[in-house]
Amino acid sequence: MRGFTSADGHGSGWRDGRLHGGGGNGCIGHACTVTATTEPRQQMQAGDSRGKRRIVARIVMKFGGTSMAGTERIRRVAQIVRKQQAGGNEVAVVVSAMAGETDRLVNFAREAHALYDPAEYDVVVASGEQVTAGLLAMTLQSLGTPARSWLGWQMPIRTLEAHAKARVGTIDADRLIASMESGAVAVIPGFQGLSDDGRITTMGRGGSDTSAVAVAAAIGADRCDIYTDVDGVYTTDPRIVAKARKLKAVTYEEMLELASVGAKVLQTRSVSLAMKAGVRVQVLSSFTDESAVSADDLPGTLIVSDTEMDALAKEHDMERQLVTGIAHDKNEAKIILTRVPDRPGSVAEIFEPLAGASINVDMIIQNVGRDKGETDVTFTVPQADLARAQALLEDRREAIGFGRVITDSNIAKISVVGVGMKSHAGVASTMFKSLADRGINIQAITTSEIKVSVLIDEDETELAVRILHTAYGLDAES
Ligand code: ASP
Ligand code: MG
Repeated sequence: MRGFTSADGHGSGWRDGRLHGGGGNGCIGHACTVTATTEPRQQMQAGDSRGKRRIVARIVMKFGGTSMAGTERIRRVAQIVRKQQAGGNEVAVVVSAMAGETDRLVNFAREAHALYDPAEYDVVVASGEQVTAGLLAMTLQSLGTPARSWLGWQMPIRTLEAHAKARVGTIDADRLIASMESGAVAVIPGFQGLSDDGRITTMGRGGSDTSAVAVAAAIGADRCDIYTDVDGVYTTDPRIVAKARKLKAVTYEEMLELASVGAKVLQTRSVSLAMKAGVRVQVLSSFTDESAVSADDLPGTLIVSDTEMDALAKEHDMERQLVTGIAHDKNEAKIILTRVPDRPGSVAEIFEPLAGASINVDMIIQNVGRDKGETDVTFTVPQADLARAQALLEDRREAIGFGRVITDSNIAKISVVGVGMKSHAGVASTMFKSLADRGINIQAITTSEIKVSVLIDEDETELAVRILHTAYGLDAES
């Protein structure tokens, strides 16, 4: 079996330089041998060594739940797929379950057994995608487009680790590619794979995005188009800022930060996989009419490497912005531990039990101990984990020897994200000053190379996002 590649043995090597790699290990969590360049592939001329058809490109198209919700919408999807294939492309389609279906199935599992067996949970929830894959293949056939479905276990898409949150391991794409080359559209249910011991697995909620990127890597696709109910990635939430602009392109790094701080367009894992494997991703809307711009003309938002981003900026004569987007996240809660002994080991004792309970701690602040060798420690956890975290800490209060646990879930995290800040100073101070000018108090700060995040009162979220959107010059001209 091969890893994320099919370049070798594939004939004329038209993807030379695009995606080589593999070994049997796949990519995620291993030393990744997949490398890629991102220059656009040259168009193939008819009559090359591969003969037969004029291949324009190899494209993966992924459709989310709202696009697949019902036979009427599936017919629309089939038409979009058919058009893409009719241009001479080799096409693989990855589909989600119908909107709401996975929730429904999860509820059944919960009703059957509060402590359900994750392996059986996967059997149940993977079924939603099986239905839409079969329906789409049929619908394509009804339009005269050859198509067949490839279930996770049929390719197979091998996964690693736990049921219900499996990670993609290796994909054996040989038969899939042969089928696509013969002119059939390959329809693949997202979300599902096959475990080492031959059982069906699923990849965590939103996992179809990751399936699509993994398939794109495995077949050396030129592009992975993610069709969804929004038409791209915006500078911020357009429901908050009417002047939010759709971005032509963002880098993988930026998208990772935006996805993980609450701008949920793609499953975060799919973005890190795309970055590792060098898959060019486009986010675009499936709700378009006949006159819509072709996906090949890139109407959505491209997610690409920094190098390609530079090239795109040059090509379109755009200046790269210092700040690309502003995200907000209201799903965190703040915990303050007072009078923590200021000695080696006490912070470790606080965070060990949280890690043990798989509670993700985000921002952490420890004040400098002033007197009596005591200090306050402030941090944030997902709101859903707040009660558990609080209980775990109360249990250890005596052992660790701190004063009180104070919690607050009325907070929001606001983040400004942009690769530009790697090389430019002043992004953080602009943020602090703009918020201060409007009387917004900052409770905590964290930074990374391309992100500055602050914690503020939740009630001020919308105001803060608007202020910052203007401050960084992101408002669209009206
Ligand atoms: N159907 C699954 C979910 O709702 C996977 C996906 O759509 O990405 O999470
Ligand atoms: Mg999704």
